[in-house]
Amino acid sequence: MDENTKPTNFIRDFIDEDIKSNKHNGKVITRFPPEPNGYLHIGHAKSICLNFGIAIDYHGLCNLRFDDTNPTKEEVEYVESIEEDVRWLGFDWDDRMYYASDYFQKLYDFAVQLIKEGKAYVDASTTEEIKDHRGVPTEAGTESPYRNRPIEESLELFEGMKDGKYEDGKYVLRAKVDMNSPNMIMRDPVIYRIKKAEHHRTGNKWCIYPMYDYAHPISDWIEGITHSLCTLEFEIHRPIYDWFLIELHLENRPRQIEFARLSLNYTIMSKRKLLELVEGKYVAGWDDPRMPTISGLRRRGYTPESIRNFAEKVGVAKRDAITDVALLEHSIREDLNKRAPRVMAVLNPLKVIITNYPDDKTEDLEAINNPEDLSAGTRKLEFSKVVYIEQDDFKEIPPPKFKRLIPGGEVRLKNAYIIKCDEVIKNENGDVIELHCTFDPETKSGSEGSKRKVKGTIHWVSASNAIKMEVRLYDRLFLVENPDADAEKDFKELLNPHSLDILNECLIEPGIANAKPGDKFQFERLGYFCVDPLSNDEKIVFNRTVSLRDTWAKIETKNK
Ligand code: ATP
Ligand code: MG
Repeated sequence: MDENTKPTNFIRDFIDEDIKSNKHNGKVITRFPPEPNGYLHIGHAKSICLNFGIAIDYHGLCNLRFDDTNPTKEEVEYVESIEEDVRWLGFDWDDRMYYASDYFQKLYDFAVQLIKEGKAYVDASTTEEIKDHRGVPTEAGTESPYRNRPIEESLELFEGMKDGKYEDGKYVLRAKVDMNSPNMIMRDPVIYRIKKAEHHRTGNKWCIYPMYDYAHPISDWIEGITHSLCTLEFEIHRPIYDWFLIELHLENRPRQIEFARLSLNYTIMSKRKLLELVEGKYVAGWDDPRMPTISGLRRRGYTPESIRNFAEKVGVAKRDAITDVALLEHSIREDLNKRAPRVMAVLNPLKVIITNYPDDKTEDLEAINNPEDLSAGTRKLEFSKVVYIEQDDFKEIPPPKFKRLIPGGEVRLKNAYIIKCDEVIKNENGDVIELHCTFDPETKSGSEGSKRKVKGTIHWVSASNAIKMEVRLYDRLFLVENPDADAEKDFKELLNPHSLDILNECLIEPGIANAKPGDKFQFERLGYFCVDPLSNDEKIVFNRTVSLRDTWAKIETKNK
């Protein structure tokens, strides 16, 4: 790995240390272990970039493993969406796609081994009793009356649990760890429970299912994982992670390393809550462009590169913090600025008649496709007697410092001419519906006369060939920075009622007619937009990915 270009962080330090001591023969194998109970979100993207990124940098491997130990909440739809999202982000697991459910038999056999060695027992206590006996951190817990039942009895009962002899909740298998541990997780955790539910892969073969704390370390070990990266809430689970591997006498044990989870302001990251938004139709689905899901961001116009860069910028930390969504927006602007072709589009059109322009004339003007990338070339823009400008770019009574069009004032039409507003036409309600302007033929863009200075430059489209489109403007999904913070209020009450604004009368250059879903553009002066998959031949729909105003860049410059 090139030491100079890659970030160093505490995770990489641990790995370097293990490589130096030749642990695992210097190999690095990580895994990304989603539970298929929802779509992936930007927080998962951080974990994906971290796990796959480390594997790439250390010439190791990263497995995709579905942590499907809970039969009731998991669906095939989620599995497929997860595969799609990880691939889209640019990562590949070759043939190493695994399921924790592939290991159900092995996990069962290991549990039998634990019972045989007196390290696990079948408990008939109820969930409440188990909870009560566990006690509080400052006081020892109470041992279950079943804790010392004979090994033979536990073996028989556990087999009966597996064979479906008992109803849900009748028995559980618990690890015999330490009821006096100050770490509550170590107080004889439940490792198997009865659940007569159909599993998306194993069907009805199993009616007992292993708990995460038990299944995870063993699944890691089975796959030869060397470094098991997880979020901070698992830090207190690390002793139990190690306990199972040690008590099962497993060699080459993986090392669990925890990092801070990603949180973003103005959104939520809990899959349960995201599912609530989808099921309650508060959003149009998991891939609604307002959602923090990878599929939502993709539909919104985010690129894999921008998300990978974002993950890199956020870095890994040992303490939880909320990341400003402005940093994510900055990452997509940075990427699209380099490669999105510029076009002119008018969202709220105001008709402008250029009275001194010949009635039937049209002419071709030249426009640069991307000033950041001159290899993107130029295109022809048609100019004609009637053009449309943005309603906002004209003010009859201008606020202070207004540099655009006012009655009697001049403005430059980008890539075209300077025009002057001679007359303002209103309807019976007093709304401005049309402007009559004159153009100065000497000021054609690129000509000598174009050097004449006016205060403002605005975008426009020509009535002769502009096409109509629908534009969807998105705003933050929530009104408050941290929708999870207010325990009193249901998070759904904090949704931003104006998070989606649909504009139907927008006009755009005709070149766009051939754009395909997912194509991205900068609408001059307005922001970055991407063609929505809803679009068809009859109707082009654009999603605004992000506006042009970069609040993050501003913060960065200020801090320099
Ligand atoms: P839930 O507990 O709501 O089911 P989860 O966030 O634990 O969700 P998983 O599918 O278990 O979801 O997560 C898969 C992996 O992604 C885990 O290793 C988890 O630590 C990581 N991950 C999940 N959320 C984040 C986040 N916000 N930031 C970083 N990593 C995350
Ligand atoms: Mg989880």
